[in-house]
Amino acid sequence: MATGTLLIDLEAIAANWRALDAMSSPDCETGACVKADAYGLGVAKVAPRLFRAGCRAFFVATAEEGMELRRVLGPEPRIYAFYGHMAGDTATLKRGDVVPMICSVDQLARHLESLPRHPFGLQLDTGMNRLGLKPAEWAAVAELALRADPVLVMSHLASADEPDSPQNLAQLALFNDLTEGIDPPRSLAATGGILLGEDWHFDMVRPGIGLYGGLPWAEADPVVSLDLPVITCFDVETGDKVGYNGTWTAPETSRIATVAGGYADGLFRALSPGMDVMAGPVPCPVVGRVSMDVMGVDISHLDADPESVRVLDAHRTVDAVAAHAGTIGYEVLTSLGRRYDRRYRGDTDQV
Ligand SMILES: *Cc1c(COP(=O)(O)O)cnc(C)c1O
Repeated sequence: MATGTLLIDLEAIAANWRALDAMSSPDCETGACVKADAYGLGVAKVAPRLFRAGCRAFFVATAEEGMELRRVLGPEPRIYAFYGHMAGDTATLKRGDVVPMICSVDQLARHLESLPRHPFGLQLDTGMNRLGLKPAEWAAVAELALRADPVLVMSHLASADEPDSPQNLAQLALFNDLTEGIDPPRSLAATGGILLGEDWHFDMVRPGIGLYGGLPWAEADPVVSLDLPVITCFDVETGDKVGYNGTWTAPETSRIATVAGGYADGLFRALSPGMDVMAGPVPCPVVGRVSMDVMGVDISHLDADPESVRVLDAHRTVDAVAAHAGTIGYEVLTSLGRRYDRRYRGDTDQV
């Protein structure tokens, strides 16, 4: 195999969904956020597995993602799009039977004019200042909007991954103020909000990252493992430099493995220096610049040349790798490249 092997554990994703579902009361529905190709893991495999686990509410970003997901899942589940009803979305929302989560007054007008009987939801901005009607806008249009029977009213927490942030309580209080007594189901929590406790759960929770094994839910079952084949191994002399710009100099005679994976595969340049990969049980440092397609690994301390090295697994999580690049597990996951041989554990048409 010439490229890395990315193993995606669909059983772990289903187990994570069930565990997150069990954290809220039976009256609270647990959806699944599968935007951006299920955080890069392949929505055509992930969403049907979640459906089999019992999930009936799926969240995507764009109307197009919603329509593709509809083809995958068939007519039964509800599919909600966070970008709402943008100019040009009307036909796609209709054909895909996708619920736009309206996020501005303009969108509300567009929706009620162009698809008056098509279900819609509403996003309220409770302090993140990203998407959603501001409190003053909501005050102005709530009556009209509620008369049109929205199927879900939601907001999004900006700091749910920091349980002690005062922003969580402030957003909760404002969401309660804005939605007290309304008929439609309400939703505030993604993964981080589920962990904050039942006050944040309302009628629907919308976990994403927790399904895929990432923080802030530290107890998630690990979902991905990634192995890169070794292309070639060779010795370098003391003082030889490795990779672009010669940023690593051999302190002594060293043995280097060049492995098949680089920044085009989601292994960020910023991972080196600092990241280790595993040759069996032995950590080996990445040395020199990560290139587009390859990177160098110091294997001087190994007894034999490895055939492959491991970048991700249960012990080397996306968050651990992300920390070396100054980013978060979400970005590592959604950057995993298209070149990998993707294998799915728990896929009914594959072992
Ligand atoms: C991405 C997203 C989610 C899921 O968030 P996670 O932190 O991945 O659980 C939920 N709601 C909205 C509005 C989102 O954008």
